[in-house]
Amino acid sequence: MLFSELGLSPEILRAIEEQGYSQPTPIQEKAIPLVLSSRDLLAAAQTGTGKTAAFMLPILERLKKYANTSVSPAMHPLRALVLSPTRELADQIGVNVKTYTKYLPLRATTVFGGVNMDPQTQELRRGVEILIATPGRLLDHIQQKTIQLNKVEVLVLDEGDRMLDMGFIQDIRKIMGMLPKERQTLLFSATFAPEIKRLASDFMKSPQTVEVARQNATNDQVEQIVYSVDAFKKRHLLTHLIKSRDMSQVIVFCKTKLSADRLARELQRDGLQAEAIHGDKAQGARLETLAAFKEGKLRVLVATDVAARGLDVTELPYVVNFELPNAPEDYVHRIGRTGRAGAKGVAISLMSPEETRQHESIEKLTKLTLTPQTVDGFRPSWMARPNERERERERERERAPAPSKPEASVLAGSTEGVKKPMNSRRSRKAKREVPALLLPPRYKVEIIR
Ligand code: AMP
Repeated sequence: MLFSELGLSPEILRAIEEQGYSQPTPIQEKAIPLVLSSRDLLAAAQTGTGKTAAFMLPILERLKKYANTSVSPAMHPLRALVLSPTRELADQIGVNVKTYTKYLPLRATTVFGGVNMDPQTQELRRGVEILIATPGRLLDHIQQKTIQLNKVEVLVLDEGDRMLDMGFIQDIRKIMGMLPKERQTLLFSATFAPEIKRLASDFMKSPQTVEVARQNATNDQVEQIVYSVDAFKKRHLLTHLIKSRDMSQVIVFCKTKLSADRLARELQRDGLQAEAIHGDKAQGARLETLAAFKEGKLRVLVATDVAARGLDVTELPYVVNFELPNAPEDYVHRIGRTGRAGAKGVAISLMSPEETRQHESIEKLTKLTLTPQTVDGFRPSWMARPNERERERERERERAPAPSKPEASVLAGSTEGVKKPMNSRRSRKAKREVPALLLPPRYKVEIIR
């Protein structure tokens, strides 16, 4: 299918052609006609599927009739509001909208917290047809009466699942209450979790549902690798991988601000160009670091989940999970930073023995088997030691051939996941079946069963 077959105007087609978009992505193909028909839309789209253009291009088509070059603010009331959970995503959408409106005199601006309100206020007072905002800062502007919502025709809630995760539900409900009842509502979310469905039933009118990827699916274009490694060796392994794989650029995910900061410092000491971004950094510094990374001036970006949300770097080849996330959905979001818009990517997860539960949840959610591997020189101690212990036990067994108790400790020194005692026959069998101990504890448990 071609963009020209979707009913978009020449001004929009020209702008996207200049962006190098040759044909619509699946979400664009499905969503654009629906949005153009003024229907409400509930869309589940993976990160990197082109969802921003999927809602923004038809919105521009709808608003085209209002495009004008008048300097009067009254001629530029707000018509489309896009709510984003994070500043980075808002900024990203704003940048895209600027390129899509290149040949249309429609005004768009972005407002988010953490920066001075004054320049935002001035811009809003001049009048804008399209506003991209984080909920908190939008409410601040509404309170200051710098923006009015009474002429809004289209509302977009982007990354709705994340919006709820981040506790924006009250703000969203408040904003919804201020919008005209007669409007089009578009809700984009990585998943259709029950809370998302509830939000949809509360605020949308018989929405059409569009799903371009299996729920919680990861991108097929991304090769996923899990390496088993001791926690204290993770940083050395990371440096080794960055250098040996000659990674031109990589985003490394950490669970906490503290570990992100520490890792960035350690990588710098290893001679790598690395910077951390997270919620405690000043907004200016965050945007500067992101810009340096996007321009290819920075090799390693160490980020927390929230800070990297919405980050879109064209053809990012690698993502590393330095620590596995507690919420498996975050794994899907994280690895969605690579393999975007059809490009290939590699997602590497460094898993310490303490993280087997997270690994298990990720496999359950993604319905994938991510068998851990090892890297020469970084073989985890918990794999090596049981072999010695096992040899010791072999010797013991020779002395006393019928052990009366199961020996769960054969499972790589961990009993995690062992739910019921095993009989001695099974125990002996287990010992025969897992001599190499190449898999983490829970796999051993599965083998025994
Ligand atoms: P998104 O999912 O909206 O974050 O988009 C991911 C990336 O895909 C962005 O860099 C877009 O500029 C790009 N993109 C969106 N639509 C297309 C398309 N039809 N062809 C090529 N790239 C696209």
